[in-house]
Amino acid sequence: MAITFIRIGFLSCVLLLYMPAVSAQQCSYSTWSWNVHAKKAVQYRTVKKDFRELAPFERDPVSGCSVCEQDQLEIRLPNLKPFKICKHVAANVENNLRNLIKTGEPIKTVIGYRVGLTRGPLDAQGNRTQFSNHSFGVALDINPEHNGLYTNCFQFGPHCKKIRGGDWQPYNNPLSIKPHGSVVKSFKAIGLKWGGEIQGRQKDFMHFSITGY
Ligand SMILES: [Zn+2]
Repeated sequence: MAITFIRIGFLSCVLLLYMPAVSAQQCSYSTWSWNVHAKKAVQYRTVKKDFRELAPFERDPVSGCSVCEQDQLEIRLPNLKPFKICKHVAANVENNLRNLIKTGEPIKTVIGYRVGLTRGPLDAQGNRTQFSNHSFGVALDINPEHNGLYTNCFQFGPHCKKIRGGDWQPYNNPLSIKPHGSVVKSFKAIGLKWGGEIQGRQKDFMHFSITGY
């Protein structure tokens, strides 16, 4: 009996000695900043740090997802290029897309996790300083070639100016997302809003996220 206790005691000590090293999980991600003067991505860089050293802006307060690769899961679906989504929302997103594809919805391209400082205030050089929702893996773009991002677009019409992706033609093109179609309905049912219905001057028809932005 005494020997058993000694053994367990020894084992606990060894475990305790190694535990801090194991729990210090490493975070890594590659990023860039959008420069509004040059109108292009600049300052490409790779960041490596301990998860405990993450700054508040490197984490989405709503979902708890971070910009770290280690928080992302790869999703593989039939006829789609693999993409990554944050582990806290990946299962819902994967199930929903799988059902949509099964029912014949033409989903050809999905883009999820993509890190970049594209929002928020500018620094002295004109670089954006906040991460997009894609940076946390909590946003996805569907068929961007047929669901553009438009500005000057409080209400959709011919005056809207497309700044990314292909033309949105919901009534002529089956690859364009329909306002009351099954893609929008099913994503809303799992708590994601559609960028085609956001307030303000932009309409992002390819985009789904918790806030819609
Ligand atoms: Zn998007």
